[in-house]
Amino acid sequence: MRTGRALVGGQWRETAERFAVTDPATGETVAEVAECGADLAVEAVDAASAALPGWRAMPAHERAAIMRQAAALLAARAQEIGAIMTAEQGKPLAEAAGEVVAGADHLLWAAEETRRVYGETIPSTGADTRMWLLPEPVGVVAGITPWNFPVSMITRKLGPALAAGCTVVLKPSELTPMSAIAVAECLTEAGFPPGVFNLVTTTRPEEFAGAVMADSRVRKVSFTGSTAVGRELIRRSADDVKRLSVELGGHAPVLVFPDADVAAAAAGVARSKFMNAGQACTSPNRIYVHESVAAEFVDELVKLAEAVAVGNGAEPGVTMGPLIDDRAVAKVGRHVEDALARGARLATTRREGPGRFVPPMVLTGVTDDMLVCREETFGPVAPVLTFGADPGDEAGGEGVRDADVAGALARANATPYGLAAYVWTRDLARTMRVCEELQFGIVSVNGAPLAPPQGPFGGIKGSGYGREGGHHGVEDFVEYKYVSVGLG
Ligand code: NAD
Repeated sequence: MRTGRALVGGQWRETAERFAVTDPATGETVAEVAECGADLAVEAVDAASAALPGWRAMPAHERAAIMRQAAALLAARAQEIGAIMTAEQGKPLAEAAGEVVAGADHLLWAAEETRRVYGETIPSTGADTRMWLLPEPVGVVAGITPWNFPVSMITRKLGPALAAGCTVVLKPSELTPMSAIAVAECLTEAGFPPGVFNLVTTTRPEEFAGAVMADSRVRKVSFTGSTAVGRELIRRSADDVKRLSVELGGHAPVLVFPDADVAAAAAGVARSKFMNAGQACTSPNRIYVHESVAAEFVDELVKLAEAVAVGNGAEPGVTMGPLIDDRAVAKVGRHVEDALARGARLATTRREGPGRFVPPMVLTGVTDDMLVCREETFGPVAPVLTFGADPGDEAGGEGVRDADVAGALARANATPYGLAAYVWTRDLARTMRVCEELQFGIVSVNGAPLAPPQGPFGGIKGSGYGREGGHHGVEDFVEYKYVSVGLG
């Protein structure tokens, strides 16, 4: 049993009350963590405000050096922090350790970017005037992160915020605070000045949100989580006209064209669908396969789904862990039952539980009106839909009519969400046209990765706004002050 503390102004803080953290695989309590009230959130904002002038004034090379050190410490502890993550989140050890390494890479990339937060000189209209843009940090930032990627969701916010010269108060998910505490330990050991990074653990997120939204010293809130909570934060940000980044839910379509490498497409879909037991905002939710290759695709996907070893992520050989809690299991059950009741077919062997262990499932005969196609399932269910007709002579070319492509695109775009989409084709012209038409913030073609640190990750429409990663991610934490100087 571990104990976890908050980090405020460089001090590890105990609280009178603690909350329990549960292993989703066993139901056992694995940690007890400080239950911080609004008072500690305000203290953390005090500390972040006090640390801001020093941090923003520190030469970028020095800030970069501390961040590089933090990234190195995090990467060096990948196995150990991975085990902590598995115990509170459930994903298999290899996946968890991989996430820690990826999380460290986000910090490292941002550390390098620290030295490239450039201003601009603008040609002025008069001979005796000069115009400059000075990049300045937004100020104190509050971050709120979910449980599904307990380390990388943090470093993706933290890296760019710190690179821009901001100080941060972070509230991790109450389900995965120990991973966040491990990140905080690495930052502390790396030598961040006290107050630059503060961690507030609590099971009362509304209290934390109330404190930071009401505090005019907090100039930006960066949130990743559900669309419902994101909407509420957007409303509340109006009172104080705070800047916001909101990375919200998703409902990713996949388009598989007949010219694709169908086996590779099935393998790619299996990878992104069953990773983290389907609990990812970028998880494929509607898999549109051209009728002419649908049977081959389903055969491959079913084989891969049945080969997944479901179990306690801490055990060797397990490739998929449990769902996070009973509510998640119930939601997956509801979605599958709805699909079956409306005529879908379970193409994988029916396997039950136990408990939170939900086997990967492939559904065929799915239609766009089913719950799986309208709400985020957040579980290992792969719904396969088809588009186009079997190619006859009239189809010509590779058997895909323009109208079929247009129809598939319209269905893919028919969602309030707009985070990630996937395309499988080897036709360059089709790739370009389809990428241009898809209304999503990110498109992965032929299985290329979605979230490397240099890529500006983020959504449109109901999936939110703001970008994490790339120089765009850092700019989300920068104000550009326009200075116009008369030389007199
Ligand atoms: P959630 O919205 O319940 O919780 C996310 C965070 O918000 C947690 O830290 C939680 O404590 C906090 N929170 C909850 N209620 C709050 C309130 N009233 N005010 C302020 N904070 C509050 O979401 P979740 O279940 O933890 O995460 C899953 C969701 O996150 C899914 O919808 C998923 O798609 C989304 N997500 C999006 C991205 C992305 O980059 N777009 C990445 C990962 C997850």
